Amino acid sequence: MPPLPDPREGLAGDLEDRVDPGPGACPACRGGPVSCHHRGFGKSWARPCWDCYFLGLAGAVAARGDCIRKRVGAVLVSPDHRVLSTGYNGSAPGQPSCKAGGCDRCLSAVPPGSGYHDCIEYHAEWNAILWSRPEDRQGAVLYVTFEPCDDCLKLITGVGIVRVVWVDPAGSQRELIPGTK
Ligand SMILES: [Zn+2]
Ligand SMILES: [Zn+2]
Ligand SMILES: [Zn+2]
Ligand SMILES: [Zn+2]
Repeated sequence: MPPLPDPREGLAGDLEDRVDPGPGACPACRGGPVSCHHRGFGKSWARPCWDCYFLGLAGAVAARGDCIRKRVGAVLVSPDHRVLSTGYNGSAPGQPSCKAGGCDRCLSAVPPGSGYHDCIEYHAEWNAILWSRPEDRQGAVLYVTFEPCDDCLKLITGVGIVRVVWVDPAGSQRELIPGTK
């Protein structure tokens, strides 16, 4: 049997990017070598911390977002770091998306972050919660690519999620404990 390919093959970037900064050092949030556009991991030898790992996953999920204005991804995670569900924003199954002209709000000139009551879409957080098991939500952590709106925060608080983590537009990690805002 031929030997397995060396996982180092095919990784782009300089050799310095492959230096492991040591246990506990996350390249994205703790200043290690950064070479990848996804918050600094992927092409580096350093392992991301759990927060950066799941925020990176949420970023991948966001690519499926079906909105003309913004694509958002969410990942619901158990206390022992297992993915419970994912969600992205879009219209109800079978309904035309706002890209297809289905949402007057999204096609209007309403400022970002407002007018959600006139929007047909299910937010990423909503979908992630909807497709998880109720008993799994207790003590779970929700990772999102954008700050949750007030309606989602209300839902997040009500279903037993204990921590919400997102990245602000400047690229800084933010978080809140539901029910304490
Ligand atoms: Zn990190
Ligand atoms: Zn939309
Ligand atoms: Zn809309
Ligand atoms: Zn929302």
